Amino acid sequence: MNPMRTALLWGSRNEWLGQTLPRLPFTRRAVRRFMPGETVTDALRAARDLRGAEVATVLTQLGENVSSEADAAAVERHYQSVFDAIEEEGLDAEVSVKPTQLGMDVRPGLAEEAALRLARRSADTGRVLWVDMEGSDYTDRTIALYRGLRDATPQVGLCLQANMRRTPADLEALLPLRPHLRLVKGAYLEPHDIAFGRKAEVDGAYETLASRIVEHLAASGASERFAVATHDLPLARRVRDRAAERGTLDACEFQMLYGILPEAQRRLAETGLRVRVLISYGDAWFAWYMRRLAERPANVAFALRSLMRGSEPTAH
Ligand SMILES: Cc1cc2nc3c(=O)[nH]c(=O)nc-3n(C[C@H](O)[C@H](O)[C@H](O)COP(=O)(O)OP(=O)(O)OC[C@H]3O[C@@H](n4cnc5c(N)ncnc54)[C@H](O)[C@@H]3O)c2cc1C
Repeated sequence: MNPMRTALLWGSRNEWLGQTLPRLPFTRRAVRRFMPGETVTDALRAARDLRGAEVATVLTQLGENVSSEADAAAVERHYQSVFDAIEEEGLDAEVSVKPTQLGMDVRPGLAEEAALRLARRSADTGRVLWVDMEGSDYTDRTIALYRGLRDATPQVGLCLQANMRRTPADLEALLPLRPHLRLVKGAYLEPHDIAFGRKAEVDGAYETLASRIVEHLAASGASERFAVATHDLPLARRVRDRAAERGTLDACEFQMLYGILPEAQRRLAETGLRVRVLISYGDAWFAWYMRRLAERPANVAFALRSLMRGSEPTAH
């Protein structure tokens, strides 16, 4: 793996950096490139703007690894209020949650119970609740949490990471559930024995998994959603073409992150594809921001330029 990427992903888990960097004005300015603001009001405003371009949204409050029941309960309350706001505004917006933000580290069952209440609420409004996939320490428990939700409602989606060597087996085990799936390359630093390190390997694994999902949808005539979540446009186009050939394009949705390739997001939507942008907000953005930097070394140069300029950068 690229040494800068390794260092940034290591930094994303470093406590001292996590306490120090977010206080610095230049880091706060640079992070604005990837998030519309720290409050849900900022996120809803961005969702309204994107709606004008026929781009749907997924909202997620930043934060992970909460360490108390009270913090987990506050996160759940927050998301319940987000459902109210989405409904009130009639937005085509969904919610994505991280199991450790709902208390997966605090005690067994806590995140599962909260996720179930949120999934039911989301399903009542006809929307899918998405479950993020975090680092490999949580993969088994996240899949188990997802299975529990799926028993209660079909309106839940799970993220799978192409960089993990286990994912083809996880996918085969999940397909009989007819799950809504979001396929990503994987954002966490993982040991080589369980994850691919080279980009070409991850890209190849992504394409193979995507083809498998498309074939599954074609064979079963199923209508579950397949979220092709990548900014790798040539790869996304190949998945799109394959899905079109197999008559499953209607089930596909192209998902990207707020602030990354915004013109491409709009262009894809203009061609009639379903596009959904994940908007992150909140003040616990440090680890998440470091993962965004790690995805593209040029982002580090951008952050440093914003340090020198001392001015507000614009999203590209
Ligand atoms: C909707 C959505 C949900 C996600 N959920 C999860 C999750 O639950 N768990 C998880 O592990 N990961 C998640 N990710 C992150 C994902 O794993 C990747 O880390 C991220 O999408 C970058 O990989 P890529 O597929 O875009 O391909 P890459 O090969 O990394 O990038 C392809 C191109 O996209 C552009 N690009 C990519 N990243 C950036 C960036 N940060 N800044 C600027 N340009 C960039 C560049 O032009 C780059 O050349 C999610 C991503 C998306 C889009």
